[in-house]
Amino acid sequence: MTTTWVFSEESDGHAPASALELLTKARTFGDAAVFHIGAGSGEAFAELGEHGAAQIFHLSIDDHLPAAAAAAALASLLDEHGGEIVLFGMGNTDRDVAGRLSARIGRPVLANAVEISIDGSVSVTSEILGGVEAVVTETTGPAPALVIVRPKAFPAEPSGGATPPVSEVSMPDVGRSGSAVIVESHVEASEGPDLEAASIVVSGGRGVGSQDKWSVIEDLASQLGAAVGATRAVIDAGWVPARLQVGQTGKTIKPDVYIAAGVSGAMQHLVGMKDSGTIIAINKDPDAPIFSVADLGIIGDLHQVVPKVTEALQAR
Ligand SMILES: Cc1cc2nc3c(=O)[nH]c(=O)nc-3n(C[C@H](O)[C@H](O)[C@H](O)COP(=O)(O)OP(=O)(O)OC[C@H]3O[C@@H](n4cnc5c(N)ncnc54)[C@H](O)[C@@H]3O)c2cc1C
Repeated sequence: MTTTWVFSEESDGHAPASALELLTKARTFGDAAVFHIGAGSGEAFAELGEHGAAQIFHLSIDDHLPAAAAAAALASLLDEHGGEIVLFGMGNTDRDVAGRLSARIGRPVLANAVEISIDGSVSVTSEILGGVEAVVTETTGPAPALVIVRPKAFPAEPSGGATPPVSEVSMPDVGRSGSAVIVESHVEASEGPDLEAASIVVSGGRGVGSQDKWSVIEDLASQLGAAVGATRAVIDAGWVPARLQVGQTGKTIKPDVYIAAGVSGAMQHLVGMKDSGTIIAINKDPDAPIFSVADLGIIGDLHQVVPKVTEALQAR
């Protein structure tokens, strides 16, 4: 019997980072099977195998809206093969499929997980109150447990495995729920390193002052080869696009170095970056909560401090 299932939605011919992270954890429980939706590229299958997938079940979704069919197909696979736990990432499709699967098989979903253990029953640690408190929930009742895991809860580590056997899954009939198709999709253009993958991130908060002063953040990021991040206050003000938001309702990141300029350090922001390697905060308020997680703090006006750092880097 398969112990663990991992949900995976192909992105640009690759396995998503979430599936590779979840597989790294899943393989510690025993055999890990992947339910993979999308085009089904050889590269994606190889990446899944390299991270410990013992078997892949592939549903080619074509241009259909994926969640209804994916949930129905996954429910049938669980019925046929069993499974103790099904792991999902925090992506839109992941959460949509988890909810639909929950309704189909009558099992609850445990969300926001940062740790999982299986010892007779499945126990899940979740962060609440913006990461300030941890709650451990032990599942009772019949398997499987459905768990949505926070990004970067487990670092993706290759196990060196080969591409596992791939079984094609036929498209289930889900009636009218399956009739919606995607007619157009749009990939937002972006420059510079990817926020979630960058080893250095420079984030700006409302303390930057206005959109026309935002270049102070971009200039430093560009000198460091860093990605740019932002607080929700900055997103809400319309200074930068929403994909740059770090925090509870934005991205969870763990760069080696996180520089926060003009960021107060609200708990909803901290939950997205507090596990970064070295945190450097620049804020004119010595009591700003960001200093409670900072390894290095500079109390001062960011418009004086940051350009000096940028200039010093330029001069090197
Ligand atoms: C449900 C929910 C979800 C949320 N999700 C998120 C999330 O995902 N991410 C997120 O970031 N927030 C989130 N928030 C919002 C969060 O609570 C804060 O409001 C937000 O993070 C504050 O952003 P900020 O630090 O940029 O602004 P502020 O709190 O206004 O802080 C600005 C800081 O800049 C400093 N400053 C001002 N001028 C200067 C200067 N010249 N030089 C140096 N320092 C200066 C000030 O001292 C202050 O500390 C969420 C809130 C809710 C309710």
